[in-house]
Amino acid sequence: MDRLNTLLEHNRSFVENREYEQFKTDKFPGKGLAVLACMDARLVELLPKAMGLKNGDAKLIKNAGALITHPWGSVMRSLIVAVYELRAEEICVVAHRDCGMRAIDPAKILANAQERGITEDTIGTLRAAGIDLDNWLKGFDNVSDSVRHTVQTIRSHPLMPKDIPVHGLVIHPSTGRLEVIVSGYAEEPAAE
Ligand SMILES: [Zn+2]
Repeated sequence: MDRLNTLLEHNRSFVENREYEQFKTDKFPGKGLAVLACMDARLVELLPKAMGLKNGDAKLIKNAGALITHPWGSVMRSLIVAVYELRAEEICVVAHRDCGMRAIDPAKILANAQERGITEDTIGTLRAAGIDLDNWLKGFDNVSDSVRHTVQTIRSHPLMPKDIPVHGLVIHPSTGRLEVIVSGYAEEPAAE
């Protein structure tokens, strides 16, 4: 059976057996948290368990590297919506050791794309249109620096209220151990 049908078969029995009942909650995060984490498959269950989060506890936003590539992109928008509409009161950025986005090579990704049928013409057209593919695909060299930078991007966003603590953490992808890189409580917003 293909992947989709395997998934759908599981889903039918999940719903029929009312296995969803244990997950009942509402849309507001019970612990008042919004979490931006990496999409790494090792963190699917480990991250919430290691952080003591169950269904309904947090708004969880995931992408490659727990990065914000643009202040007006969908990650930042999700955080803004989480704060103003969904009662998130603190934000955690959670990157991890051994991340696939560390030292990723944009040239290699583009070479792979060409092997999969994306033509050099297409790539040339994108570049000519002003899309900086290398910058867009690049990850980070140092996970702690990356977390600090992401925390700073959130804190300094013009629409982010100054009283929202933004924490920067690094999780170990096998033990779940969390390391604090930036505590959102450490620096009170400067008096104006
Ligand atoms: Zn990762």
